[in-house]
Amino acid sequence: MTPRDRPSSQAPPTCAAPGCTQTLAPQPTGRPGRYCSASCRSRAQRARQRAQAPVSVEVDVGSASSKGRHPSRSWMVRLRRGPDSVIVAIGLPRPAAERLAAHIADLLEAR
Ligand SMILES: [Zn+2]
Repeated sequence: MTPRDRPSSQAPPTCAAPGCTQTLAPQPTGRPGRYCSASCRSRAQRARQRAQAPVSVEVDVGSASSKGRHPSRSWMVRLRRGPDSVIVAIGLPRPAAERLAAHIADLLEAR
């Protein structure tokens, strides 16, 4: 058995934050840290919160997107999870926006 075949527990532990490959400095006392820095710790916490947040669908009046449009066609449909959102459609009359939102809500519930 060569040194290369040693179990991976011999390798220095790396940061647990998504996308970070920093190795962790050995901790002389206490339990070993999981993150290389405070910013990695809070980044990982935000990622966990995002992953747990439910996806919801919103119908709203577009602000920037409704400039120059007739007020009856200024509605938008938006998907939201936690602080992140994606606009699905803009420039809709309200009934069309609400129909689309209802279809998306059905789809989300059918998981
Ligand atoms: Zn890190």
